[in-house]
Parts: sequence; structure tokens; C-alpha cells
Amino acid sequence: MASDRTVQGLAAALREGERKALARAITLVESSRADHRRDAVALLETLLPATGKAVRLGITGVPGVGKSTFIEAFGVHLVGQGHRVAVLAVDPSSKRSGGSILGDKTRMEALARHPAAFIRPSPTRGTLGGVARRTREAMLLVEAAGFDVVIVETVGVGQSETAVADMVDMFLLLLAPAGGDELQGLKKGIVELADALVVNKADGDLKAAAGRTAAEYRNALRLLHPTGAAWQPPVLQCSALKGEGIAEIWATALRFRDAMERAGLWAERRAAQARAWLWAELTDSLMAALQAHPGVKKRLAALEAEVAAGKLTPPAAAETLLADFLGR
Ligand code: GDP
Repeated sequence: MASDRTVQGLAAALREGERKALARAITLVESSRADHRRDAVALLETLLPATGKAVRLGITGVPGVGKSTFIEAFGVHLVGQGHRVAVLAVDPSSKRSGGSILGDKTRMEALARHPAAFIRPSPTRGTLGGVARRTREAMLLVEAAGFDVVIVETVGVGQSETAVADMVDMFLLLLAPAGGDELQGLKKGIVELADALVVNKADGDLKAAAGRTAAEYRNALRLLHPTGAAWQPPVLQCSALKGEGIAEIWATALRFRDAMERAGLWAERRAAQARAWLWAELTDSLMAALQAHPGVKKRLAALEAEVAAGKLTPPAAAETLLADFLGR
């Protein structure tokens, strides 16, 4: 796809709601080929006015907590209410062969079959930063295609929760009925990132334990968030398996949006995210250009060796390389 006309054609088809066009557009933004990148940037630029209208939800939780069961139940509930739901995923560790891949259609069969839903697994190649940025772009594409709820799923791999929290309006942490962060395999800081906690599997034998877990987290949150803030992250309970408590979670998301909008924080969060994205883009592009620069490439190994041997200071080596790069 080389011409401007093809990009315009793809944009138009995507806006019409053609699923094939949306899938092709996402494949395009995931590609790192230079000509694809140019087309992807042009496509996103064309579609920008049609983006930004969805509620963007992030969902995290350790494997087995019930993320896919929850997203399926939640998504089916939303499409039943007339919403159009897109599910994306950030999982830099994912491989397309075998195992359960985040955002995999086979994990959410009922939702995947629904005409008002669109499910896309994580881009598989690249660093977390790269995968996250391509997912942000995919998010704009699904918004332009008319999806009004975007769910981004992730697991606790590396810093992927932070990356997802940085691209969504509301970040949900799914918990299982069990005590303590260690038992849940939660990394430090994850609870702090969450705008709401949801204890899943509140059914059958696990119901009482779910209630205790919810109470524990309610106590913990009281210490984390100052009273008087625009939003106090609540601790909810649900059974994704039985579809119980699901409507309440969507109602909470809407209450969250109202509270944030009233406090002027909804738009502010998005603006801060857009600025951070710009800087991440710049940092990555600059690093790539630096590493590809012929003069830098020629000298890099030798300078690195000198630095490693203690014969040259890192600042002096960096200055030399930058001078090469900038042609000074
Ligand atoms: P994920 O790895 O976080 O995506 O978790 P899954 O959605 O694959 O669920 C892991 C296991 O927990 C599966 O066996 C599910 O059937 C089960 N599970 C998920 N949600 C619930 C629930 O609400 N109640 C109960 N009892 N089991 C659940």
C-alpha cells in the first residue's frame, strides 16, 4: 500500500464499519516496515477527528483470575445494551503458537461471534514500549470504526500494567478470592494504579472468601487514597462465570467517568497520556535513528569497549557519538 489514495480508501472503508478494513489497518500499524509506518501515520492522521469517543478500560490480573471469562461476560452484557465493544491486548511475551494468548478469540468465543464486538490479540513482536504504542494506535482505529467501549487486557509481565494504565481512562484490577498480595502474585504498585478493584469468582464455595478479600482490600485502599479526592477506588465483587455483578461494574465505570469529568480530570488524563505518548515516540525514533546512523555505527563498538575497559568516560563517549550523529 504505497499511495495516498489507498490510505484514504482504507480510512473510508474503516469508517463504514468494514471489519476487514479495520483488521488490515491494525496489521498496518503493527508493521515496522518504513513504508508501512508512513502509511500508518497518514491513516491515523486522517482518522484522528473520528477518534477519542470511546470509554477506554484497562483490565489486569494474574493468570487464572478470570480475565477472559470476565471480559466475555462484561462484553456480552455491553453489546446486549447496544454498545460496540473492542478488545485489545498488551502482552509482549505472547507467542502466536499454543497457550492462551491475551485477547485470543478462542478464549472469548461468545463475544468473538457477536457482530458488535471486535477482538484482537496482542501484537507479538517487539519491546513493551513498541507493543504498547502499536496498541494505542489500534485503539484509535477501533474508535474511528465506531466501537464505543475499548477494553485493553494485560497480565503482570514486566511493566505492562503501567503501560496499559497509561493508555486507558479507567484501570480495573481483577482479584481472586484469597488473602494478601503475595498470595495473589501481585506486584507492588499495581493496587495503586487501579481505579477499581473487582474480586471475581464470588460464587459457590468461594463466595465467603470473596467477601473477606473485598473487605481486606477496602481496608488497604483507605490508607492509599486520601479522602476528598475526586474518586475513591471501590472494591466490587462479581462472578464472571455466572454473570453476576457485571452490570454493577459498568455502572461503576459510568460513575467514574462522571466524577472525573466533573473534576476536569477525564480530559486532563487523556491530554497527559497524549503528551507522554509523543515523548515515547520521539525517544524511540531518535534512538532508532541514532543506532542506524552510519558514523555512529562505525564507532560504537570501539567506544563501548573503551568505556567498558575504563579508558573513556561514558559522557565523553556519548558526546563523541552525538557529535557524529549531529554532524558537528
Ligand atoms: P485468565 O487467565 O485470567 O484469563 O482466566 P480465565 O478466564 O481463563 O479463568 C481461569 C479459570 O477460572 C477458568 O477455569 C474459569 O472457568 C474460572 N473462572 C473464571 N471466572 C470465574 C468465576 O466467576 N467463578 C468461578 N467459580 N470460576 C471462574
